[in-house]
Amino acid sequence: MGQRYDAFHRRSIDDRAGFWAEQAKLIDWHKPFGQVLDYSRPPFARWFVGGQTNLCHNAIDRHLAAQADKPALIYVSTETGDEHVYTFAELHREVVTMAAILVSQGVGRGDRVLIYMPMVPQAVFAMLACARIGAIHSVVFGGFASNSLAARIDDATPKVIVSADAGSRAGKPIAYKPLLDEAIRIARHNPASVVMVNRGLVPMELVAGRDLDYETLRAKHRDADVPVVWLESNEISYTLYTSGTTGQPKGVQRDVGGYAVALAASMRHIYCGNAGETYFSTSDIGWVVGHSYIVYGPLIAGMATILYEGTPIRPDAGILWKLVEKYRVSLMFSAPTAIRVLKKQDPTLLTKYDTSSLRSLFLAGEPLDEPTARWITEGLGRPVIDNYWQTETGWPILALANGVEQMSTRFGSPGVPMYGYDLQLLHEQTGEEVGVNEKGVVAIVPPLPPGCMQTVWGDDERFVETYFTTIPGKMVYSTFDWGIRDPDGYYFILGRTDDVINVAGHRLGTREIEESVSHHAAVAECAVIGVADSLKGQVAMAFVVLKDAGAATNPADATRLEREMMSLVDRQLGAVARPAKVHFVAALPKTRSGKVLRRAIQAVCEHRDPGDLTTIEDAAALDGVRTAVVRADG
Ligand code: ATP
Ligand code: MG
Repeated sequence: MGQRYDAFHRRSIDDRAGFWAEQAKLIDWHKPFGQVLDYSRPPFARWFVGGQTNLCHNAIDRHLAAQADKPALIYVSTETGDEHVYTFAELHREVVTMAAILVSQGVGRGDRVLIYMPMVPQAVFAMLACARIGAIHSVVFGGFASNSLAARIDDATPKVIVSADAGSRAGKPIAYKPLLDEAIRIARHNPASVVMVNRGLVPMELVAGRDLDYETLRAKHRDADVPVVWLESNEISYTLYTSGTTGQPKGVQRDVGGYAVALAASMRHIYCGNAGETYFSTSDIGWVVGHSYIVYGPLIAGMATILYEGTPIRPDAGILWKLVEKYRVSLMFSAPTAIRVLKKQDPTLLTKYDTSSLRSLFLAGEPLDEPTARWITEGLGRPVIDNYWQTETGWPILALANGVEQMSTRFGSPGVPMYGYDLQLLHEQTGEEVGVNEKGVVAIVPPLPPGCMQTVWGDDERFVETYFTTIPGKMVYSTFDWGIRDPDGYYFILGRTDDVINVAGHRLGTREIEESVSHHAAVAECAVIGVADSLKGQVAMAFVVLKDAGAATNPADATRLEREMMSLVDRQLGAVARPAKVHFVAALPKTRSGKVLRRAIQAVCEHRDPGDLTTIEDAAALDGVRTAVVRADG
């Protein structure tokens, strides 16, 4: 670790109050806080107690003096062809109008507003409008169908729902309204009103007495004045669910002041963004990256943020870089899954556009395998910075704080513990800290830093039970991920604690096997899971998506590729880790946030019911796995 950063990090742990009081200067406070941290009820941490602030004020209003006419929200849809730049003044106007609409529907401080929206500017207006008036937003990813939506309606019990007629994917409209109507029908809770944005993509009917047309309301409230509601730092800003990769999604609840400070600090120390520059995150507002680094983080830093509706490969695989060129993007944030998609496309598109404005590309959400990291780093000629975090934490746990001290990236590693996180690698059974190069559970010694979840929405007990009781003898926060630390302090994430398989008594991380298989030049992406085996307990099974889908259609080619991949694993990890079979599939089943659903693949391999699949992106991918398994069995 760099010396300067090391000292910075140490101070953040040894002198929490002093450290965070300093960071708190990065945002505006209406009333100063009396106490930096109240940790009288572990593991619940309360930050900046007594201070009053507001996320919307920090994201918009405070920039009006210097940047009213500078771009704030840049909307680009390659689905509809819409493209619109909102300045800070214009964004302010739209947000205040939306706030007036919500207030007119009886929404006040502490009330919930559920946002079920595609990537349209009104979704961002609605989030910021809630923040402005102290309402709690709960954004539900637009791809979820009625049942998932109904469960979230019942959990959040919103007074108002904001939605739209349809989303669009790869040029095809996806109607939202029928899904929403059905969800409200299934749900026990009924919202008082539903504000509908009509994009004109599909016909829709408004339910009399419940549904309202956004444009009509907007015209009515165009000149409204809705002042910011000053909130105590620990009031609730929003709730948001985890991706559901490992099972039941958890309702993460976040505060106001701690979150604002954490984001402002991360924009300075980790992302190194400056007011007036442009930030481009390809995530979705339905995920935590969308909350922290499409909406709040960049705007708090006074940056313009791009809201992009579309895929990375339409109209062609150069679209992201074309936008970088057009809007002179300084910082970009995406996910490894998007890069692996690009890897299967024409590589010349990577260099076709002028991307010289770009300083770094940040990737997060799942493991960034070394070959993909190399490919994109070399292709772009810019630092590619992996960062590791969770919906629960709201901002990076592991990354590089280049704003504090420039540190070199290390392929395969998301970097070092970020300031504020007292990170430990613990032995899963003894709870003792493991040594250098030894594998342990990544754990955070509480209190969690500002910005992290306050609790599980409406369920303090579940918060403690889920996160703080799994390591024997210690009340520490478990990330449920395996990690290892090298002698220089760089961490490597070895997969989830439930992704470990046991082959004839050897415990193996599926992530390590995946990494090894990925080194084969023909592989675009791969998933390895453990399958029950009467002889060995479990065996590894690999599912591989090839860069060139045609490369394994001939059985002889498939066999050759399988052998090559097996011997790669033999050489790198030993024969015990060798997959019993390599299946070639067209796609991997993933959550809608792009994470591989290993538990579903495993269930299919073991001929079990895959269970709750509400978060799956493409059910056909799981059918493909099933077909491959049946073919191999037969
Ligand atoms: P659930 O908790 O509901 O099962 P989830 O864990 O997929 O869903 P998220 O909060 O979206 O929900 O994802 C966080 C997880 O994603 C981390 O715990 C880790 O497993 C993985 N992850 C995120 N970033 C990285 C990264 N840079 N490298 C490796 N893994 C990562
Ligand atoms: Mg998780």
